[in-house]
Amino acid sequence: MSMTKFSAGTGLICALLVVFAPVLRGQNRPQDRQERWRFLSPSTQVSDDPRRVPVAPGPRGPEGALVLRGGRIFDGTGAPVREGNLIIERNKIVKIVPASSTDWPKAARIIDVSGKTVMPGLIDLHTHLTYMDPKQPEVAEDMADATLRGVERLRFFIESGITSVRDVASAGTAPFRLKDWVAQDRIPGPRVFPVGQLITGLGGHGDEGGLDADPVNGAIREALGPDGWRLAVRQQFKRGADVIKIASHFSQAEVSAAVDEAHALGMKVTCDCETFYIQRAVEAGVDMIEHPLPRTDEAIRLMAQKGTEADPTLVPYILIFNLSGGYFNTTSRRFTFSKDANLDVLRRMKQAGIKMGIGTDLVVDWFRYLPNPYITELKQFVQAGYSIPEVLVTATKTNAELLDMGDKLGTLEAGKLADVTVIDGHPDANLDDLAKVDLVIRDGYVVIEHGQVVIPRHVPVAMPAPKPVPAQGTASTSSPGSQ
Ligand SMILES: [Zn+2]
Repeated sequence: MSMTKFSAGTGLICALLVVFAPVLRGQNRPQDRQERWRFLSPSTQVSDDPRRVPVAPGPRGPEGALVLRGGRIFDGTGAPVREGNLIIERNKIVKIVPASSTDWPKAARIIDVSGKTVMPGLIDLHTHLTYMDPKQPEVAEDMADATLRGVERLRFFIESGITSVRDVASAGTAPFRLKDWVAQDRIPGPRVFPVGQLITGLGGHGDEGGLDADPVNGAIREALGPDGWRLAVRQQFKRGADVIKIASHFSQAEVSAAVDEAHALGMKVTCDCETFYIQRAVEAGVDMIEHPLPRTDEAIRLMAQKGTEADPTLVPYILIFNLSGGYFNTTSRRFTFSKDANLDVLRRMKQAGIKMGIGTDLVVDWFRYLPNPYITELKQFVQAGYSIPEVLVTATKTNAELLDMGDKLGTLEAGKLADVTVIDGHPDANLDDLAKVDLVIRDGYVVIEHGQVVIPRHVPVAMPAPKPVPAQGTASTSSPGSQ
């Protein structure tokens, strides 16, 4: 091959690279992840989570219709509050009619919410339902205790008007079981969208104490090498993960492999990563950064350019600084860390146009402060320049979009799932009113009424009638007990 020919060939390859560069740059973006959904017919009934698994067609949720009559409707779309009646059938919002209309099924149950604010259920993007509470006499490694901690905390969330939580690391299979039990309306609580285990490098964030990294039952999953990170992602997927959570530290090859694998499986990836690890993760196409960790203008600019989202979670650090005076004994927070610096990060991310959501990251016994940490987080957003109605839209519509559930949750619109919170006050004018939760509906079920959980008495199932006695000579000797 002559030198001339070789140069011509190289030139052609370069030209092709220029032509395909936008396509290559587009790899691992959310639209590629959603390729997994492209083959589904719109008429196929799918699971109400980001996994979008086809399910048997048919109605879901409780039987009958429910009318919330006479409320102030804050629908979460950004529209101003208006008077109206909200009509729910089974687990779906059917319509909102003017306050003067009574256009609903005759047999509907009617709840008078006059003067109260009817809004989409709130969403919390960052929690750990099973994390240990050192103040309780519990057994750290015991899965039963871990699961029961989750059951208790789910109640605190739903009592706070929160109808969906994203669990971004919990023990073993507990978050998946909690998700299923809530979905079947067998325990009171919000929808659970679990990541399973947090994937990190040996000694990385969350893996420094060495207590929680049991490969099966731990909340932390150590991984090594690109194939090891792919395997860790697939393990969470196999358990039922709706989203993947990773944390620094990792090599560029490891984070790229994890993001590529998660996106191919149809899952978003969120990352607890600091300093240059943010750049590595964003370059790899990660979807979201947790916490106020993007400290530099360079990192924030790169996130804005790539469309990377953020879940800033300022409130856990406010609690840590108030309780301990600082964030100590970790290698993964080696930078200037203060309330003012964190609020400044939030402001700069807003100015850069980064899409952000609300998460509280409550651990130890902080769940007992609810709903106040959630309200505090919203107030941080107001301090960073959001209006109160804007921050309520962030807590509902935007959070649903960040969850990959924007088509099913987050607003009060016909066809959406019936997740509704009713506040005895005007939270669109005063965020403190969010503490006055009166009624909460999740998936069409009334879970909170007059501010507390309602558990209807179970309807006894008829006991079995005696089987007809078979004719003489044909009697079987088998019984359920003998098989
Ligand atoms: Zn966390």
